[in-house]
Amino acid sequence: MRTTLLFQCLISALLVLLGVNAHAQQGDDWGAVELRVEHVAGSIHMLIGRGGNIGLSIGDDGVVMIDDQFAPLSARIAETIRGVTNEEIRFLINTHVHGDHVGGNENFANMGVLIFANDKVRMRMVGNVAHAALPVVTFSDTTTLHLNDEQVHAFHVPPAHTDGDSFIHFRGSDVLHLGDVFRTNNFPYIDISSGGTLQGTLDALAMAIGMAGPDTAVIPGHGNVSKREDIVEFRDMILVVMGRVAELVDDGASFADVLSAGTTAEYEAKWGDPERFLSGLYQELGGQL
Ligand SMILES: [Zn+2]
Repeated sequence: MRTTLLFQCLISALLVLLGVNAHAQQGDDWGAVELRVEHVAGSIHMLIGRGGNIGLSIGDDGVVMIDDQFAPLSARIAETIRGVTNEEIRFLINTHVHGDHVGGNENFANMGVLIFANDKVRMRMVGNVAHAALPVVTFSDTTTLHLNDEQVHAFHVPPAHTDGDSFIHFRGSDVLHLGDVFRTNNFPYIDISSGGTLQGTLDALAMAIGMAGPDTAVIPGHGNVSKREDIVEFRDMILVVMGRVAELVDDGASFADVLSAGTTAEYEAKWGDPERFLSGLYQELGGQL
């Protein structure tokens, strides 16, 4: 049981790193993926397609992209951006290492886009992706791009979803892109195999809650543009479920016991299937799969 789960974890981590997801495995028609751009606030837009939400600062100085979804979509993503602005895409910041956020790196690098990411994102990608897909500029703590009358402030947060997570604060437009640490249509995913942690998830969300004002627009890794109160609701849900799972672990519950205990019952209508979240929580709270 333990070996099988571990093996499944390793395989899924490998597939994520390679940018393969369930959709791709099903041989989906990438051309059928609908791409659209939503204005968020100020210079900031969000491009929705398949994979992580793309943040865009668009202005006279060019385009800064946050994340780039999957490689088969790159040409159409670039075309969709050209539908909004004639300025060139100059910079790309990866929020973290997962393939649904960095899958287009090689293609955008080949278009001349300079890629930024936290040091650990690059470290995890080296040897697993084409050389051209690697971030060219890395930072351990923070970096800031100054263009479009905007400070695009990217900063490393505690190991939350992975150990290389960055948040991006567009200070001029008052928009936060939180990568996959925050999502509105799924429970949190603590990717332990990529260095994610429960405590870091709570700490990173607390940072976002502390930075956001009542009018700050929040771009989640997946889902809809949100407000500070939505991050608070997400964090509070984690605390409630964490308390319940901790009690079960203290009582010696197996993971199967946790899965059938209804610890997420009132939240599933909003956030869906809790299994992956509970698996991370269970392990982080001392349970052995
Ligand atoms: Zn992710």
